Amino acid sequence: MTLSLRRAGRLSSGIKMRDTSYLNWPFFQDRHRAIAAQLDSWATANLSVVDPHDVDASCRMLVARLGCDGWLKHTAPGGESETIDVRTLALVRETLAYHSGLADFSFAMQGLGAGPISLFGNQQQRDWLKRTRSGEAIAAFALTEPKSGSDVANIELTAQHYGTGYVLDGEKTWISNGGIADLYVVFARTGEAPGAKGLSAFIVPNKIPGFSIAERLETISPHPLARLKFERACVPATAMIGAPGDGFKIAMATLDIFRSTVAAAALGFARRALDETIKRARSRELFGGPLADLQMVQASIAEMAVDVDAAALLVYRAAWTKDNGAARVTREAAMAKLFATERAQKVIDKAVQIHGGDGVRHGHIVERLYRDIRALRIYEGASEVQKIVIARQMLSGA
Ligand SMILES: Cc1cc2nc3c(=O)[nH]c(=O)nc-3n(C[C@H](O)[C@H](O)[C@H](O)COP(=O)(O)OP(=O)(O)OC[C@H]3O[C@@H](n4cnc5c(N)ncnc54)[C@H](O)[C@@H]3O)c2cc1C
Repeated sequence: MTLSLRRAGRLSSGIKMRDTSYLNWPFFQDRHRAIAAQLDSWATANLSVVDPHDVDASCRMLVARLGCDGWLKHTAPGGESETIDVRTLALVRETLAYHSGLADFSFAMQGLGAGPISLFGNQQQRDWLKRTRSGEAIAAFALTEPKSGSDVANIELTAQHYGTGYVLDGEKTWISNGGIADLYVVFARTGEAPGAKGLSAFIVPNKIPGFSIAERLETISPHPLARLKFERACVPATAMIGAPGDGFKIAMATLDIFRSTVAAAALGFARRALDETIKRARSRELFGGPLADLQMVQASIAEMAVDVDAAALLVYRAAWTKDNGAARVTREAAMAKLFATERAQKVIDKAVQIHGGDGVRHGHIVERLYRDIRALRIYEGASEVQKIVIARQMLSGA
């Protein structure tokens, strides 16, 4: 017998659509709850103006607005906070992703791009953080190369010690904010040892001679992306973050923090897909009643809701663990990213299915989510890489 939720009285208009009960979980403090509520109102009021067709202009505008209204201060230490609060980062990403993938992207890249400076930069280098936190400078994180994506230790771009500085030669690709960034943190081979131990990180401003944008890259969910070229591009020795040979460690420690926030963005997309689906199932009349009366639709909604809650538990477990003093959260972050991104893809796919033809129509919210989620299963470590990381941690007893 089909259970009619309407008849059961559970779909009365008095029920709040958006479930924010997770904010009561013990992972959060009142300041987190306040940020989530304020940002949700801010996003509702401000993010309808985002133009998905001109991504460069939109991202510049978003960074300026997010900076102006104080949200970017959460991307890096400074002011009242000496460390990055990962729960805040994750909540902000989840909330922005719920409203706009491009807004989440603009926020996240200020954190990831400046991440190596936040974690390992000296006092002088940390001056950049004032500019990334205010939105005055746009940041990028340049690790990937044409021959080294998942295989990070295989980086070929060289930085040769020369006089009082380093000369950079080579290419980076798939660099988010490439083309609009003011500052790139570039990982290069300095050769202290073979493989991962021979890499260093450098701060490279966008205007230096020898640095250029070789190609702009377009994807199914557009945002600024580019292949970068370095031809005898000189940086002073003071541009190096940490010590020679620290590059791999710096990259991995940065990803340790930001991976759980990629998971948070996936969670925001999934939560939006679920909410849109509930709305649709309640309003669409089919076979003489609401779509929500069909048990197979109910089953899909139940599966979506379980995936959303389980992903949220993993995301905020990783963030809480880091905020509570863990030096590294490699296993927790990898689990959160793997589960949240893979399950968000499934949740959004179900949302598209339940929306029928409208679900694949250009410009529909679930159609956009369907495109927005895909790359998250690939960047900052593809799902297969996360499985390897988790298995290594388990097998080593870490
Ligand atoms: C939209 C977008 C934004 C990006 N932004 C940035 C950025 O800002 N900065 C930056 O440095 N990089 C960025 N990247 C690059 C991203 O991190 C790489 O694409 C990713 O690491 C995968 O590298 P690759 O594309 O070279 O794929 P490959 O390394 O060639 O891997 C291809 C596929 O092989 C599989 N695979 C990989 N390793 C294993 C394994 N060990 N076992 C089994 N299967 C495996 C995975 O399915 C993987 O997707 C971005 C990428 C995208 C798509």
